[in-house]
Amino acid sequence: VIIDAHTHVHPDADGMGERYDARLETLLAALAASEVDRAVIFAEAVDVPYIKPIANAFVGACCAAHPDELIGFAAVHPAEPDAPDRLEEAVRTYGLRGLKLHQRFQGVAADDPRAIALVRRAAAMGLPVNVDAHLWKGAPLRMQRPILIDDLCKAAPEARIILAHAGGWQFMDALAVVVANENAWLELSIALGYYDGTPFEAPFLFALRQAGAERLIWGSDHPQKPMQETLERGRACLRRHGFGEEEQALIFGENLRALLDGEAP
Ligand SMILES: [Zn+2]
Repeated sequence: VIIDAHTHVHPDADGMGERYDARLETLLAALAASEVDRAVIFAEAVDVPYIKPIANAFVGACCAAHPDELIGFAAVHPAEPDAPDRLEEAVRTYGLRGLKLHQRFQGVAADDPRAIALVRRAAAMGLPVNVDAHLWKGAPLRMQRPILIDDLCKAAPEARIILAHAGGWQFMDALAVVVANENAWLELSIALGYYDGTPFEAPFLFALRQAGAERLIWGSDHPQKPMQETLERGRACLRRHGFGEEEQALIFGENLRALLDGEAP
């Protein structure tokens, strides 16, 4: 089973920015035209120029209509009063399977007590947590650093934490978090294609090798990137760097399936 760990749909076609088609039909068409079997879609408790808010109810409705294709992750802003209770209610109401946190777009660092409280509740409910770990616009860089996720991993040791975009421009820090914490995984969306064919390809793939295939999770970031093409390029790049078929089966689906089914530590 191939699972895309990172895709977006939005009730508005331009909800992910004018350049992208974020409609549900477009994601379903990409899935149908690709080897990917299932895709994670995220609610977004943010309001920034790059993503408009995406309600848990919308994600739940998409997943209910397409239960074989879609896996929904909930979002609650960590600064909201009663955020952990709101998460629990959203998950129970809409059948969501994980939590999405966004340091730079929510303006709450991963080591903030409010983020920790939310992640602890996700862990208590058996939900994996996808934390954005790419440094970019939206908030001061110092509060987006992947190394802050080390504190989150240690403050919520029972949580299973996925570092989105493998730390982006700070991928060696993200690697350090994965080496230092058994409850952390690197998610490869954007980053793998970004470094592919550049002088940073070898250092990035060195970091992935050091993390190990059982700690890597593939995603495309559809609609920002084309799903099937991203899959093929990612496979080729990983193969060039010695990741065999069994390792690729872990990276392209099995690791995330195990996390969703509560099998991993
Ligand atoms: Zn994304």
